[in-house]
Amino acid sequence: MELFSNLKGQDQPKRLLASAVQSNRLAHAYILAGPDGSGRLTAALDLAKARICTEVENGFCGQCRHCRQIDGLVHPDVRITLPGMKTTKPENFADLFKVRAEDGITPLRFPGNTYISIDQMREVAHRLSRKSFEGHGYVEIIYDAHRLRREAANAILKTLEEPPAGTLIILITSRVSGLLPTVRSRAHTVRFGRLSNSMVEELLQKRGVPAEEASRIALVSGGCPGPALVMSREKIKDSNQAEKVFNLIFNRSMGNMELAAEIEKLSRKLGREGVLSLCTDMISLVHDQRRVLIGAQPLSRKTAPSADNADDTVFQRMEVLFRDCEIRLKANVSPSMAFSAAAAGSRRIGN
Ligand SMILES: [Zn+2]
Repeated sequence: MELFSNLKGQDQPKRLLASAVQSNRLAHAYILAGPDGSGRLTAALDLAKARICTEVENGFCGQCRHCRQIDGLVHPDVRITLPGMKTTKPENFADLFKVRAEDGITPLRFPGNTYISIDQMREVAHRLSRKSFEGHGYVEIIYDAHRLRREAANAILKTLEEPPAGTLIILITSRVSGLLPTVRSRAHTVRFGRLSNSMVEELLQKRGVPAEEASRIALVSGGCPGPALVMSREKIKDSNQAEKVFNLIFNRSMGNMELAAEIEKLSRKLGREGVLSLCTDMISLVHDQRRVLIGAQPLSRKTAPSADNADDTVFQRMEVLFRDCEIRLKANVSPSMAFSAAAAGSRRIGN
């Protein structure tokens, strides 16, 4: 497969990195700097495939087990470190990687004031001190590297200076000035820029976004395909999703297990951001139900779905459940766990 064929625009970084790969002169550490959603991770994963895939010399095939694992963000020798909070658990990281690998656009980011801890960097240094699992070297990607705490950054200086043979370290950042000078001086900085609106528009249209919508989104995307694709997904996303969830909860012919399975599936599909926005929709829908009960007009939709037998107490308690869900989502509880709890709780109250 051609290197960076999935990367839109960015001719300069593409040329620079491709020629380094092809001439087998890739440096041991790079800083990929540029706005969010400009393709830095896509480029980093291609570099990782080129390093690890053994099917193609100075390139990658895109088909083999290695290539597929790297694209799936689960290769044992290609690790991504993300900022988290003290409360962020390994399974939260794994969940986020899974959602991202599935849809290709969910940002690799948890809400809140996150950082990369010294423990995370010690782990990286420790991993690199051992032999790689597959024996083709190691690729460590450090995402949002400007969120490295000072002591965390210091913990990898030695590794950055003299990484073990076959190691490639890639720091991804939107704020290169947020990196310590000692870190910056130990890696090559490659800058990613913004695309023109027409390029973003073209990309959206290729992904099936209608022309008018694509042009509107491109205008506000700031020249970054990532956020543009997320915005288009929000738009394409069925605007009646909250209504559907509401109907599932009050559909008495559907068993509790079935409901749980549906909610789980939906949460995986939407990811954290999607579930958060669905949760907000649920709250306004439930709030409207309460307005309708007292004869007022609903605020957010023309007609509210019917839920016979449900009274104000039911809706009031549902509102509390979905507000709790919002809080838990922001506190990094897994989206499917938080949303399932709210849905199951609503079902119990409603029946
Ligand atoms: Zn391959």
